[in-house]
Amino acid sequence: MADRPYSTASIEANVKALFVDLPPHVVLVAAAKSRTPEEVLACVRAGVKVIGENYVQEALAAFSVIGRQAEWHFIGHLQRNKVKKAVEIFDMIETIDSLTIAREVDKRCAALGKVMPVLIEVNSGREPQKFGVMPEEAVVLVRELSRFPYLRVQGLMTMGPEAGDPEAARPYFRLTRALFEEIQSRNFAGVEMKWLSMGMSHSYKVAIEEGANMVRLGTKIFGPRL
Ligand SMILES: *Cc1c(COP(=O)(O)O)cnc(C)c1O
Repeated sequence: MADRPYSTASIEANVKALFVDLPPHVVLVAAAKSRTPEEVLACVRAGVKVIGENYVQEALAAFSVIGRQAEWHFIGHLQRNKVKKAVEIFDMIETIDSLTIAREVDKRCAALGKVMPVLIEVNSGREPQKFGVMPEEAVVLVRELSRFPYLRVQGLMTMGPEAGDPEAARPYFRLTRALFEEIQSRNFAGVEMKWLSMGMSHSYKVAIEEGANMVRLGTKIFGPRL
């Protein structure tokens, strides 16, 4: 078993290697779940600009150490009772998948006078245990969200199948890319399709080949979760 926390030096080396490896148009989101604030700070010191958090509580702990030295993306499943806190910290919510949660985010952002960039999470693998809208529901949801004054739809996010052969994820990334372009072609008012967030440590190379310009990496930066 590796020592925890991982050393600052190994995190720094991993980030440096990634910046050599990643095409310049691809934004690296450090998926920080289960990491200590010190580990997250190490990746920010190494040049990571965006932290992805799955849990509001964990985000608050890291935020109290790192603050606005990085941008904060919410990448977990957002619960209604966490929205009020979430909108104070986060610069983007990548996982909007229902009108109900969108309405709550809009309402809480209105109270802060803050416009929130959001991505729609697509359940591209149609996995029953996964969150996200079914692919055929995405266009309708984007159209509905385009009317919320405090939300800005900026793209799509997908997980795809968890592990195994990265090639197995390719069809799901391709489907999500096609959906992205379909929504882009609709030119909904106020919707600016800029970000396609897909690919994790095992699959990001395939995701980038299929058009991802935002990748969410945890293991590759910090080492295996223990
Ligand atoms: C954990 C997580 C990742 C990163 O997973 P790794 O395999 O550690 O790179 C990416 N996206 C989401 C939504 C996650 O929860």
